[in-house]
Amino acid sequence: MSSILLSGDVDVVIPSWVAPVFAACVLFVAVVIAMRVHYLRQRKAPLRRVVAGLCPICGYDLTGNVSGTCPECGGR
Ligand SMILES: [Zn+2]
Repeated sequence: MSSILLSGDVDVVIPSWVAPVFAACVLFVAVVIAMRVHYLRQRKAPLRRVVAGLCPICGYDLTGNVSGTCPECGGR
């Protein structure tokens, strides 16, 4: 047990297991947020590729392609 003396009369005791559990919770929340951001970015990737003139499936540069079919993967 560790104790932190906040003021003259009040002695707050923080159990030693609180810090690792808190750190694990913060890490868990950070991982969940990172996974959510990655999922949302992946979901919008095809739209970003089309806007940039790339194949929405494989990302091949379709600049100058008049057929509308990707020569790399066959996607439209
Ligand atoms: Zn393609």
